[in-house]
Amino acid sequence: MKLIRCECGFVARGDSDDQVIGVIRGHMASDHPALLDTVNREDLLSWIQVE
Ligand SMILES: [Zn+2]
Repeated sequence: MKLIRCECGFVARGDSDDQVIGVIRGHMASDHPALLDTVNREDLLSWIQVE
């Protein structure tokens, strides 16, 4: 399981990098649209934790 913890406490989970990035981008689009514009795929990849 891979995950990204958002600064607001939301946790995006997925089985692959692409899946967890899709979840966190969907969350940011709805809750943090300004933040979404400032992060690229490499940033998101660097935030992924594996558990
Ligand atoms: Zn958030």
